[in-house]
Amino acid sequence: MSRIVVKVGSNVLTRRDGTIDVTRVSSLVDQIAMLRSAGYQVILVTSGAVACGRSILGAEADLDNVEQRQVFSSVGQVLLMDLYHTFFRNYDITIGQVLTMKENFTPGALYDNQKGCMEAMLKSGVLPIVNENDTVSITELMFTDNDELSGLISTMMEAETLVILSNIDGVYDGDPALLESRLIRTISSAQDHSGCICESKSSHGRGGMQSKYHIARTVASSGIRVMIANGKREDILCRIVLEPSQDTPYTEFVK
Ligand code: GLU
Repeated sequence: MSRIVVKVGSNVLTRRDGTIDVTRVSSLVDQIAMLRSAGYQVILVTSGAVACGRSILGAEADLDNVEQRQVFSSVGQVLLMDLYHTFFRNYDITIGQVLTMKENFTPGALYDNQKGCMEAMLKSGVLPIVNENDTVSITELMFTDNDELSGLISTMMEAETLVILSNIDGVYDGDPALLESRLIRTISSAQDHSGCICESKSSHGRGGMQSKYHIARTVASSGIRVMIANGKREDILCRIVLEPSQDTPYTEFVK
């Protein structure tokens, strides 16, 4: 069975004003359900806890950065999982939450434990929904962002494909805001396009295109197919995985 990791960024799940885009969550759930029906084993890595928490509590709270992240994520993770649970239930798909930390990816007992747990979930037909345990993560030991986490999960779980959904179509050969910039369709491990990536950091999450690019290349060099696509586009997941066509914009990283 083909195993696929889908990473959804905060910017895909939130509206411009920072509130959670429930319609988008619902559409992503529809698409993941379709992938499962097509025989894919799916692992979802989702951001959005901090953004959800911020939209509930407001940014006014008198907290420092670390406290904000901790409190926002504690509140937001519940809302996020509630939404996934509600929408996946319509498809009779049982979800399970995996909140993890960097320590769990160093070879040893913690690594084996997390891998074993997720294998068992998949074996039972449970859809693992992964996020960093932001509430108790120690700042210095945090993942750079959930792009890094999705790469580590893909390698740990020996996935065939990793799809990183962001709010941009993929990697461009220049500033994506400029008309002359072109989307790069395929990037092999031998090619280096890092020089042309213009960094505009994501407004609601921690990641950016530089970090996606480097993670995608590293993961692809281990033989996992990686795609970066725009999660705000209609049916993008199904279009790139189930019916790939030249008309669908995305960047694919190959070995
Ligand atoms: N774990 C964070 C959250 O759920 C997101 C980290 C990131 O933006 O990559 O809000």
